[in-house]
Amino acid sequence: MIPMQDAPLSITNVMRHAERYFGEQEIVSITPDNPRHRYTYRDAFKRVRKLANALERLGLQRGDVIGTLAWNDYRHFELYYAISCSGMVCHTINPRLFGEQIEFIINHAEDRWLFVDPDFIPLVEKLAPRLNHLKGVVVLCPEAAMPETTLSNVRCYEALLKAEMDEFSWPDLSETTPSALCYTSGTTGNPKGVLYTHRSTILQCYATTAPNAFGLSSKDVVLPIVPMFHANGWSLVYSCPMNGAKLVLAGNKAGDGAELTDLINVEGVTFTAGVPTVLSALLRHLREHNLTVPSLIRVGVGGAACPKSIYEEFETLHDVRVEQGWGMTELNPIATYNGVVKPALSHLDGSELTTKKLKQGPALFGVDIKIVDDHEREIPWDGKSSGAVKVRGPWVIHQYFRHEQPAVDNTGWFDTGDIGTIDHDGYLQITDRSKDVIKSGGEWISSIELENLAVSHPDVEEAAVIGLPHPKWTERPLLLLVVKDDSQLTPQTMLSWFEDKVAKWWVPSDCVIVDKLPHTATGKLSKKDLRDSFKDFQWR
Ligand code: ADP
Repeated sequence: MIPMQDAPLSITNVMRHAERYFGEQEIVSITPDNPRHRYTYRDAFKRVRKLANALERLGLQRGDVIGTLAWNDYRHFELYYAISCSGMVCHTINPRLFGEQIEFIINHAEDRWLFVDPDFIPLVEKLAPRLNHLKGVVVLCPEAAMPETTLSNVRCYEALLKAEMDEFSWPDLSETTPSALCYTSGTTGNPKGVLYTHRSTILQCYATTAPNAFGLSSKDVVLPIVPMFHANGWSLVYSCPMNGAKLVLAGNKAGDGAELTDLINVEGVTFTAGVPTVLSALLRHLREHNLTVPSLIRVGVGGAACPKSIYEEFETLHDVRVEQGWGMTELNPIATYNGVVKPALSHLDGSELTTKKLKQGPALFGVDIKIVDDHEREIPWDGKSSGAVKVRGPWVIHQYFRHEQPAVDNTGWFDTGDIGTIDHDGYLQITDRSKDVIKSGGEWISSIELENLAVSHPDVEEAAVIGLPHPKWTERPLLLLVVKDDSQLTPQTMLSWFEDKVAKWWVPSDCVIVDKLPHTATGKLSKKDLRDSFKDFQWR
């Protein structure tokens, strides 16, 4: 007896649902050839069917991997659906990685065709002689905008679509069919591929759009500032159509405070999401030009800890609710979300509420989280004791793409490489990545907590804390700062700022003011580069 139907969870059904019930809803994009392209989900999925025909005509088959090097816009949206719903794998490549890493990734994934924004043609020209499986390149633009190129077998995206019918018979796919491939940025060794499935993606969308998380509905207008090449843009490109929300895509302007403000205010954006660095660029623009964003209700911060300054400025100056998600490429990518404050915590206010809201939050329904010590023993949820964060669940990695061994331990738990605490309410707080942890005199110091305190100083633009070898304490924290333009802040005054805020031995042993801090391809502080640059630093 089969008591209930076993219908597969598939991205194809997101497309069908959005077209049928929210066909009139809009997607607005910035592209190199159009500063404001707009059309509806109905228009979009019509073109997705033309694209699916075009993929077949290029000789592509089920299981083939197709690479994209593209910003957030409607053509990239069309690729997400046409590729995955045809049973192929959409491999989104992060163009901010080093050339050798991009070459490694394209070869490792065995990308057959690349779909590329005109901006990235010079990059592909440089790599092409060493891309072993590549059959051709499609440029994401109209015929009139086709760039000159030395590449062979180059096609124009709009010309491909023009030649096709808008009917297509989508294949029936099992829910475990791979849909997308994302590589981690490979801060140690070669990047590793994480192969998402239709099932893991749909479950992630259900979990992240529930009211305790993004809480998306057809009344929302969503601007994912997070790039679509970063862990599937936190799945918003699927979850917005699933819930009928309007999508606003910022093209290559996601770092441009003025463009973001304009998009938010003209399109009536209610929810946006991104890493702290881009959100602080937006806040700086609003501050410097005395602007507001009245339509914006919530902002989802993730990818790195949300600094207190970002939280306070959005909440108090702009009346925008700040929420925080934690995850990683291996988790498809979100596992915890600090959104709605539950009634049992409604007594919290002032600094207590801020402290709670700056944690990474409780697990989304569907994933299990635990923290363990060096002997794999579970650590109590007291909000103080920290340990390695382990996760398991239906959207957690089992095995990296083309790796021999599973990525999980023999009880099925995945070690995230993050260190954290969990409090009585189940709120996870990430204190460090295991490779960034500072161990001074045998005790852990949280670099994230020190960085958050540093950026809460009004003169500090950005801060990083790294551990460096120390003759007496094994390791001590060094604070590196970028200060605001007109600031007179000295290292000594900055260090005294910590004195009544943390234990004495947590206060960094020294501070250096620098012009800028290095970032990784996903916009996070690159502590590895900082440790390399400061390896000969002499303690005073
Ligand atoms: P990478 O940066 O290695 O390319 P990801 O983009 O997948 O990989 O980043 C995952 C890491 O980012 C996590 O392991 C964690 O250290 C950090 N991270 C993500 N979200 C948060 C958050 N809300 N607070 C603190 N750290 C976070």
